[in-house]
Amino acid sequence: MPDRYAPLRVLVVEDHAFQRIAAEELVRQLGAYRVRCAASGREASAILATEPFDVVLCDIEMPDGNGPELIADLHQRHERAFAGVPPVWVWMTALADDILDSHRDLARELGIRHVYALRKPLAADTLEDILEDALTRNPSAEAMAASRVMAGDDDLLAAVRTGDALSIVFQPQFDIATGRLAGAEALCRWRHPTLGLIRPDLFIARLEALDAAEPVFLLGVQRCLDVQQRLAAHGVAVPLGINGSAQTLCRHGLLETFDAMVAASGVPRERLTIELTEGFPVNDPLALSVTLNRLRLLGYGVAIDDFGVGIATLKLLADLPFTQIKLDRSFVGNVDGHGQRAVICRNVIGLARDLGLECVAEGVETEAQRAALLALGCGIGQGYLWSPPLAADAFVNDALARAVRPPA
Ligand code: C2E
Ligand code: CA
Ligand code: CA
Repeated sequence: MPDRYAPLRVLVVEDHAFQRIAAEELVRQLGAYRVRCAASGREASAILATEPFDVVLCDIEMPDGNGPELIADLHQRHERAFAGVPPVWVWMTALADDILDSHRDLARELGIRHVYALRKPLAADTLEDILEDALTRNPSAEAMAASRVMAGDDDLLAAVRTGDALSIVFQPQFDIATGRLAGAEALCRWRHPTLGLIRPDLFIARLEALDAAEPVFLLGVQRCLDVQQRLAAHGVAVPLGINGSAQTLCRHGLLETFDAMVAASGVPRERLTIELTEGFPVNDPLALSVTLNRLRLLGYGVAIDDFGVGIATLKLLADLPFTQIKLDRSFVGNVDGHGQRAVICRNVIGLARDLGLECVAEGVETEAQRAALLALGCGIGQGYLWSPPLAADAFVNDALARAVRPPA
């Protein structure tokens, strides 16, 4: 049983006994054993005042103190509302999206910065991503998790060879002005048998160093093509982004393998964008230029990822044929402020516009950031404000539900 989430303290607030047990069971299955339950908003409010929690999963409709009443009650208690720092808050409901949206805002007003909204029944993959997020938000819990043994190279190479333990999730992207679904990014996850879910920042760089990242790229491609085919069966098209480093993309024969997979699938090439991730310094700029130009000529999109954090990014931007800039979340996090990062953020958005490139803001978490990005003319946003990364099935269902199709 993975114990990565063992340090997390989780409170489940749910009036319906069966659903409460199901949620508690799911949390435990994911390896977070420190779970408490409350059957009403009133009970939850008392528990939150006396015990610290990292994550609260809260039902919206409860006869004895519902979600909004609980928030109002916590509001009244001011700084005495939480025994610890405000937890990551997860609303659970079977109701419509707009209800979830308004509840998200309610919790944010209480000073809870990280609010998610999940549809019932809860999906294990999505919940796991949220636990992972809570872990990184909680320094003490993260320190405990980090002190556990990290997976070794043998485990990693075996996982990549068989592919069984690797999965690809999809984080939706939205048109900032209209709120329409505008695309998604494919992100890799590794489910280790004892360590639990491991995020890519912890193993992709190591794979690159071992020169073994190509299978992960091709797995991402295959999953994107599967998703595209499922959407196309319903007449829906959503552009998808796949991450790849310069080292992987320039490997001999890789581009041919990739393009052959796409051709065999029947998916139009313009529905895929390759995101060039931080593989800096670029060892062979000429090979990279040839590869990216070939991708463009074939009809694929090419994005420069994490723009603003690498050293060579301005030069790369000047020299290479990008179609999209992905603005790094460390800048986006400050877009609504007055500091230097806000100035840089504004200028990068202007730069993208002047160069005729699509601009995608990463890590958008608050309504204030969204409003600032809208005012600056940034076209597309991605982040927890809209959605965490979703398992393929959940993403396809969500995309189909949102798709505007011509009337039959
Ligand atoms: P990235 O390409 O910048 O991906 C965005 C990362 O931001 C993802 O982390 C995503 O889960 C996270 N994120 C999304 N919204 C928010 C938000 O609102 N707030 C915050 N704080 N974070 C948010 P993830 O999945 O852990 O990926 C980390 C990095 O690993 C990626 O950064 C990408 O560079 C790399 N990566 C992921 N999948 C692959 C892959 O299949 N191949 C390669 N080569 N690299 C990958
Ligand atoms: Ca990316
Ligand atoms: Ca990025």
